[in-house]
Amino acid sequence: MRADSALPTECDVCIVGGGLAGLATAWRLAQARRRVVLLERRLPAGAASSANAGTLAIQNKRPPLLPFFRDALAEWARVARELDAEIGYGAPGGFHIARSDEDAARLRKNFESHGVFGLAGEWRDAAALRKEAPWLGDGIVAATYSPMDAHADPLRAGSAMAAAAQASGAAILTGTELNSASREGTVWRLETGAGALRAETVVMAAGPWTGRVAALFGAKLPVHPSLIMLSVTEPAPRFMDRIVTHVAGNLTVKQVRNGSSLIGGGWPGAGDFDTERLGIDPLMLHHNLRLAVAVVPGLARLRLARSWANFEAQTPDGLPVFGALPGHDKLFVVLPTAGGWTAAPLMGRLMASLIVAGKAAETLAPATPARFNPR
Ligand SMILES: Cc1cc2nc3c(=O)[nH]c(=O)nc-3n(C[C@H](O)[C@H](O)[C@H](O)COP(=O)(O)OP(=O)(O)OC[C@H]3O[C@@H](n4cnc5c(N)ncnc54)[C@H](O)[C@@H]3O)c2cc1C
Repeated sequence: MRADSALPTECDVCIVGGGLAGLATAWRLAQARRRVVLLERRLPAGAASSANAGTLAIQNKRPPLLPFFRDALAEWARVARELDAEIGYGAPGGFHIARSDEDAARLRKNFESHGVFGLAGEWRDAAALRKEAPWLGDGIVAATYSPMDAHADPLRAGSAMAAAAQASGAAILTGTELNSASREGTVWRLETGAGALRAETVVMAAGPWTGRVAALFGAKLPVHPSLIMLSVTEPAPRFMDRIVTHVAGNLTVKQVRNGSSLIGGGWPGAGDFDTERLGIDPLMLHHNLRLAVAVVPGLARLRLARSWANFEAQTPDGLPVFGALPGHDKLFVVLPTAGGWTAAPLMGRLMASLIVAGKAAETLAPATPARFNPR
């Protein structure tokens, strides 16, 4: 992406936060010929949007957002074709596994609830699984398979989307933090480290910082950070040909294009949101890696290259936040939570059509900000 250095004095839409949700919104609004300025206090996709595992899975998603996530996976396939860059997108399919009878009962329930939306995939018992995926460990009692599970490269997709937004006319101001906001007649006056900007509409897309950004507008949103870890191994010849997710939600494993394996599952890191210290919790990491090796024993042969942690947004009910803030003129929020990288491109597209055409996103109705009474 190019460096946009001069802050325009006015725009139609200002987006606060340059993670994947903000970038996707900027891209789609710029394509609709809105004058867009995106403010990013650090680097675009510099936080969770480049630090995540790149899993685009349907089987680990739950109602009521299954129809939304089905569409979000289709949006990724479209984005991969539309972006003028290689973003490591692939859809090898994936196994959603159970390692105990209790897990298997949960898997069966998950299978049935996905079936209601035509997303059940296929059931595998242990024997069938062993034949099909001999690289999986012995302790797996059942799994479901979905051909929809996919992945893309977080180190590439964010900058490719930033470049696409700029090519469509958006200005992306890096190192530019929104410090305060006030109403000036019918527009928002936004004070940043680089000067003032007037915007008719503001979209808050600040990930786990969205509660703090909302406070600048006098609004309350209960958004909290959760610090989670991810690990990558050295590259190796291909030995695992599907994405693996655990029905308990505590493991994701995949081997990516360069042969490295990514190991995640939302295990907590050790750090601090106020000072933005991003640390590893060695005990949690140990549990995460042990589980990974039990599920995919071939991982034990590989050296760990790196482990890291970053902040993901959380809300009290675990659901994302999407839409206009009631009681605030032309102020919107687009906040993915868990599975947020999967969700972000479609949330950006739907936010653009909400702003441009007033079109409500029905699949995101449960994500309405009104449920938090944010005035
Ligand atoms: C370790 C890890 C693994 C994950 N794995 C997966 C996965 O495999 N699949 C999946 O779907 N999801 C995954 N996620 C979740 C996903 O990465 C996030 O939900 C998603 O990237 C959030 O995107 P975002 O744009 O909302 O926020 P972020 O990427 O957090 O971006 C928010 C941006 O706002 C900026 N900002 C904040 N305040 C201001 C301000 N005042 N002014 C200007 N800018 C501001 C920040 O600097 C930041 O760049 C994972 C998350 C983590 C941490």
